[in-house]
Amino acid sequence: MASRDPDDVTAPPALALAAGWAPGATRVRPVVGGATAVRQANVREHNLGLVLGLIVNAANPPSRADIAAATGLTRATVSALTDRLIVGGLVDELPPVMSQRAGRPAVPLVPAQRTIASVGMEVNVDYLGIRVMDLAGTMLAERVEEGDFRASDPTAVLARLAGMYTEVVGPVADEVPSVGVCLAVPGLVDRITGPLRFAPNLRWRNVDVAGLFTSAAGMSEVELLLGNEATLAARAEAAALRHTEIRMFLYLSGEVGIGGALVVDGAVFAGRHGWSGEIGHTVVDPAGPRCVCGSTGCLEQYAGKDALMRGAAMDLALPVSALISAAELGEAGALRSLADGAAALGTALANAVNLVDVGTVVLGGIYAPLAPYLLPGITAQLQDRVLSAPWSPPQVLAAQARDYAALSGAASVGLAQVTADPSAWLER
Ligand SMILES: [Zn+2]
Repeated sequence: MASRDPDDVTAPPALALAAGWAPGATRVRPVVGGATAVRQANVREHNLGLVLGLIVNAANPPSRADIAAATGLTRATVSALTDRLIVGGLVDELPPVMSQRAGRPAVPLVPAQRTIASVGMEVNVDYLGIRVMDLAGTMLAERVEEGDFRASDPTAVLARLAGMYTEVVGPVADEVPSVGVCLAVPGLVDRITGPLRFAPNLRWRNVDVAGLFTSAAGMSEVELLLGNEATLAARAEAAALRHTEIRMFLYLSGEVGIGGALVVDGAVFAGRHGWSGEIGHTVVDPAGPRCVCGSTGCLEQYAGKDALMRGAAMDLALPVSALISAAELGEAGALRSLADGAAALGTALANAVNLVDVGTVVLGGIYAPLAPYLLPGITAQLQDRVLSAPWSPPQVLAAQARDYAALSGAASVGLAQVTADPSAWLER
């Protein structure tokens, strides 16, 4: 991967807040100013990002006229900006179609495929993953390796991930330039100073993840961003739901640990440090079992993957598909374990919904395929415990973004930086 100016990876404040990720500690440069005072000289650059954002996020490919109508920019301005994006390889034209309106046929505009690549990676308790996506959202490469990373050695795990990076990203990067690399981790990421503060299930404390990764062989040029796994998965879910009415929801990410994220107006509410959403460590029963975080009776101990497998008397190393198969066969132990997990999830979710008045709960991670078995128990708790439920019962949905959503969310971080400021990319 080509070396980059450190300035190019510094995100605007709005993006950093929305995404909840942290630049690697060694590359941080404070952001001064922001988007409030857009100087005249920058208006064109701003509008370039506006046009690209409309094309990338459109439900249906817009024409230049559609963009002019949506933005209030003149047709001539939109055409000039669009042409620049096409020449720069960020936008493609589809064959013209006759529009309802009189006049020339409209040329639908779409994000370009295979012109830029962004890398999402994940270290989780029972797998490592890498996904490479382009601006059109097409997956260019992917690998997930299962393992057991409880109480693991960060140096060894990150060296293994670096090896995967070389094998998976290397061949793509020869063809398609990479715009960013973001790593999802199941713990508290400090977005001000960079290190991973605490990942309970990995037993990682105060680990300089970016530093360890980039010190692995061949990784010194990689500028790694870090983010919380649930935050990044919620980001992918918000993108999947962007054409629906659902702009505010509570996202639940079920793995061995349980993460969460509150999405408001399509963006993750990060909290003061970017540490919000730790619903897995909210208390279901103070007299309950000891949690890996040091507390007792946390939700994770009742509804995390290990708890669900243990409740069903199944091997913890088995994939969640084994639990689903057992439930489909009507095995009493599996069904009872899922019902118990659902009751605990519903209790914790009711507390959260009472606090933040959110109308939708989205079940992600392992909870998405388990949703048919979890929904009745969760819904019953919400109906009983959410004060406003008689007038406006919260809806509970299975996530749209499936199959390692955090990988997609992590890959989207680099792409979002290009969309927000395409001229910085085009000028390279
Ligand atoms: Zn805990």
